[in-house]
Amino acid sequence: MKWRVLGCHSPFPAPGGATPGYLLEAEGHRILIDCGSGVLSKLAEVCPPYRLDAVILSHLHHDHIADFFVLQYAVQTAMRRGWRRDPLPVYAPTRPEKWGNLLPYGDAIRLHPVQEGMKSILGRWETTFFRTDHAVPCFAVLLEGFGRSILYGADSGPKTNWDVMARNPDLFVCEGTFLERDLPENPVGHLSVKQAAEAAERIRARELLLTHLFPEYDRDEIEEEVRGSYSGRWWLAETGLTLSL
Ligand SMILES: [Zn+2]
Repeated sequence: MKWRVLGCHSPFPAPGGATPGYLLEAEGHRILIDCGSGVLSKLAEVCPPYRLDAVILSHLHHDHIADFFVLQYAVQTAMRRGWRRDPLPVYAPTRPEKWGNLLPYGDAIRLHPVQEGMKSILGRWETTFFRTDHAVPCFAVLLEGFGRSILYGADSGPKTNWDVMARNPDLFVCEGTFLERDLPENPVGHLSVKQAAEAAERIRARELLLTHLFPEYDRDEIEEEVRGSYSGRWWLAETGLTLSL
């Protein structure tokens, strides 16, 4: 099983990078998780963008969905040309309505609205969705399959309840938007790098992938905040990084 980083920056991509998007692959089954700006061209380096089995969108902020609207074209074109038979299943919240209304696209998309605690079977993965602390409805997702568990934390503020989501996940993909020195006084639905590392320690994640990184930060400074707060194995996300589980 592979977890591939297609994009990891926010709120805008670094040169050659992309905002959040990840490809989970096992035995030829592919799930795209978030579809930010630049993700589709990175995905196309791995496989044709219409060859996905499902898409999960954690929430409807532009840095997580910008390329989804072009993915709609890819799937519709592939269906019309006979390269793909079935609509693409998409699991996503439907609010804010303004953006939720744009998720269906003719017969190309089969939308599954996500709710707190919802469980779904995606191929051979069982998924469970949990609301996070964020400005709009946003869902972390626990993916369990092939004897492994991955918790994707989506966008999440400090009031997010990680304890109900997972214990000892094999991989915790967690956002670290701020360095501690830039943490706003009033929480805005994002974590500092240190808070992410502490959350990973708290749920005893076996491995941590720190992501949702501000492209202008110095990577050494980010790494410094992880050290001392998390005792497991960890990575700083970068486009193309692929973890084998
Ligand atoms: Zn974001």
